[in-house]
Amino acid sequence: MKVAIATNNPNKLREIRAILGDFFEEVLSLDELGIHADIEETGTTLTENALIKARTIREMSGLTALADDSGLMVDALNGAPGVYSARYAGEEHDDKKNNALLLKNLAGKPRSAKFCSVIAVCFADGRELTAEGSVEGVILEEERGNGGFGYDPLFYSPELGKTFAEASPEEKNSVSHRSRALRNMLGLLSAENK
Ligand code: IMP
Repeated sequence: MKVAIATNNPNKLREIRAILGDFFEEVLSLDELGIHADIEETGTTLTENALIKARTIREMSGLTALADDSGLMVDALNGAPGVYSARYAGEEHDDKKNNALLLKNLAGKPRSAKFCSVIAVCFADGRELTAEGSVEGVILEEERGNGGFGYDPLFYSPELGKTFAEASPEEKNSVSHRSRALRNMLGLLSAENK
């Protein structure tokens, strides 16, 4: 079975191919399919947004489609920025501004947080599956490390003993919310196929 992935992000594609590459015959990006889609994420949960994206790409490609949606949930902020992680400090998706606003809003508050990810697969025949993954961490008082993206420089992982921005891509992928959600999805797909 071929699968259309609702992204052109090379890091996400590499991770998806590494985990689901043996299950799907071909894993195709939007560019490879010649699809240009600017999908509005109008959902109020990660699951809703992942399904919105996967359903749209299924419709546009006629193929089984996979999409992900992720966010940072901070306990002391009642789960914010959550589904609005990319646009926490405004519509322009500015990582530096998002991190600065997070530090401001967390001043003097407990720092526990988790990254969460939902993977949705919408099959060409209409079936739909969703799987979740998460990773616990602590929001530091200042940024550390130059790798990764988004909130990585502030997200200290006790499992790795460093921030996600200090970790190599392999180290981050070994514990990340997205890779855990992808592995959970692989379990669901394998069970469906039996
Ligand atoms: P997306 O759904 O993967 O595009 O993630 C939405 C937003 O959540 C990103 O723009 C980041 O702000 C944040 N985010 C999701 N995953 C990560 C991660 O692994 N590291 C840092 N930030 C992330």
